[in-house]
Amino acid sequence: MASPAQSMSTAEVGYLQGINLRAFSELEGAERAFASLYLSSPDAINTLPQREATIYELLADNAEETEHFTENMKLIHGWLAENPFQSEGLCVFACWALDYVQGIPLSVSVPDLLRVGPALYLRPLAELQDEYENFVIVVADNRATRILEVTSAMAETAKKVRGDVTNAVRKGGWSQKRYARRRQKELLHYAKEINEVLSELIRKKKYNRIVLMGSMETLAELESVLDQPVAEKVIGKRTTDTAQGEADLIDEAYELFFAEERDEEIRLWDRIKDEYLSDGLAVVGAKDVLDALHLGRIEEIIVTRDAEIRGTRCRDCENIVHGTPEICVVCKSDSVFTVDLVDELVRRAELTSAAVEFTDPIEGLSKQGDVAALLRY
Ligand SMILES: [Zn+2]
Repeated sequence: MASPAQSMSTAEVGYLQGINLRAFSELEGAERAFASLYLSSPDAINTLPQREATIYELLADNAEETEHFTENMKLIHGWLAENPFQSEGLCVFACWALDYVQGIPLSVSVPDLLRVGPALYLRPLAELQDEYENFVIVVADNRATRILEVTSAMAETAKKVRGDVTNAVRKGGWSQKRYARRRQKELLHYAKEINEVLSELIRKKKYNRIVLMGSMETLAELESVLDQPVAEKVIGKRTTDTAQGEADLIDEAYELFFAEERDEEIRLWDRIKDEYLSDGLAVVGAKDVLDALHLGRIEEIIVTRDAEIRGTRCRDCENIVHGTPEICVVCKSDSVFTVDLVDELVRRAELTSAAVEFTDPIEGLSKQGDVAALLRY
């Protein structure tokens, strides 16, 4: 097994979209030899002993897995002792059997979790990657435009464009007409310049979403000149006071961004329903989604963010099923254990290049067991 640590450069650490979930997904074993720790803050380290004690109790009937856990926690504590917690959130993975430990500082906080399993627990990271897709904010008025790149939930000013277009002033007669014409030209030229910067930005980097904010006149002019590839990425527009602080502007942009995220979730569910009803390329429910994943047929999964769906995994044949049967349905072994099926789906999706959309609850989806998918064929 290759270590994902080797495929992940230091520069990428902390950058959500740079985390290589696929490499992590490849690490898998027959028994619960992996430990995954998620921490919401440095204080959360104090709650670790209690969490560890609970896991020891739950593993009490399995000496081998208890040993793996003991050794994994040594690796994790060693890592924590050597690496100061300086990020918003933190994740540490360990597998003593592979002599492997890796910490991933995160730019957003995560719920506190300590999990043992036959693989790394990737669901929280997959949720973050889905929710915090990188995007671009344009803050424009007639004087100047700021273009901010938001990556891993952190904003950075990428580019400034000066407009210096004077405000409309009332003058009389011919001079007013001449003035207005000249002003219109300046505004158009300025808007085209912003368009150039945006076009170059989305050519160079993979941004799928752009939010426009600022004065009504500038935004209207800008929208009238946007090239098609830029225009189709604009997911929200709002007239706002450009003089307010950057943090407030970013908060406003996030409102538009998350509104689009929710719309996208609903649109995906609607597509899945349409496909399903027309006897097309869709499946609903955990069992059918899992079966389709095993066949590599899935294009995109939608799953309720907080869904609790259990699965059962066999130590002998490594088969995994939806539900909690006491013996393996394939080889009849009674050496089975419960897993978070959503986490299994995430990993299998990564390995077959299927996308996973985590959604706020949608009534129709919840009725189908909180998970559904579009199929490739
Ligand atoms: Zn089995």
